[in-house]
Amino acid sequence: MSGVVSDIVLAEPRGFCAGVDRAIEIVERALAKFGAPIYVRHEIVHNTYVVNDLKSRGAIFIEELDEVPPGATLVFSAHGVSQAVQREAERRGFRIFDATCPLVTKVHVEVAKLHKEGFEFIMIGHKGHPEVEGTMGQLDNGIHLVEDVADVARVQPGQTERLAVVTQTTLSVDDAAEIAAAVKARFPNVREPKQQDICYATQNRQDAVKVLSPQVDILIVVGSPTSSNSNRLRELAKKLGTESYMVDSADELRPEWFEGRPRVGLTAGASAPDVLVQQVIDRLRALGAQAVRKMDGIQETVKFPLPKGLKLEA
Ligand code: SF4
Repeated sequence: MSGVVSDIVLAEPRGFCAGVDRAIEIVERALAKFGAPIYVRHEIVHNTYVVNDLKSRGAIFIEELDEVPPGATLVFSAHGVSQAVQREAERRGFRIFDATCPLVTKVHVEVAKLHKEGFEFIMIGHKGHPEVEGTMGQLDNGIHLVEDVADVARVQPGQTERLAVVTQTTLSVDDAAEIAAAVKARFPNVREPKQQDICYATQNRQDAVKVLSPQVDILIVVGSPTSSNSNRLRELAKKLGTESYMVDSADELRPEWFEGRPRVGLTAGASAPDVLVQQVIDRLRALGAQAVRKMDGIQETVKFPLPKGLKLEA
């Protein structure tokens, strides 16, 4: 089956974002400073390789706080937690480090501020995603989730005078804009975010796929099935008419995908490490890929500070 792939074009940017870098570093530094085990509520980021790697180094991933012994060190995942989880973790006396991405925290802060001013919220997001649960859990009530345009017609806020839109950070930019437009059409006074909540990393990776897709015959996305932003990249390429598959590791690549599709685009979700991209490149070389080139794209320079207590000693 060798020789089916001719060349690979790497999306730019792709892979780790600043929030994922920071979240992983928080667990690594907690392990180095306090020793294993370090408890992490939910997968620190939605990537199988990252989670297994940290497990092998002494991280224990849990979903419920009663799985954490008294006095333990607990890290909240990059997706954020509800106020109830935050309060319960404090009540139990854990040593807590919050790896919530600062761009998710920004949404939480906005919700709290507008709630004080009497606002209710329409949240655009995916039901059951931990980020959505965390953001909706910033208030006891008053946040109404819509997943698509049809939901917008059904939603019943308690009042419509003071209504604001918030979104999950990792949505399809285009789908979210369409849903936000439907919200605006139904509730013309709705307050939209000053800067949209979809994060820079999600936006940049989707923009890169829009440029790359027409240049290739097939797009491979490296990402885990639970990763929202990775799924959106695969969907976007398909929507643009380019065959696309998402793989959690190089082993999942199937040679028949590339038959008659020699030019391969390669990207990775914001939680997928570069080592997996390299393994996919190696596998594609075994299938005949000769040339690997990077598309032109934005160079990301965003970096978020670590929490107090885990910064490097001066
Ligand atoms: S994808 Fe966006 S919101 Fe999520 S961790 Fe990365 S920068 Fe933060």
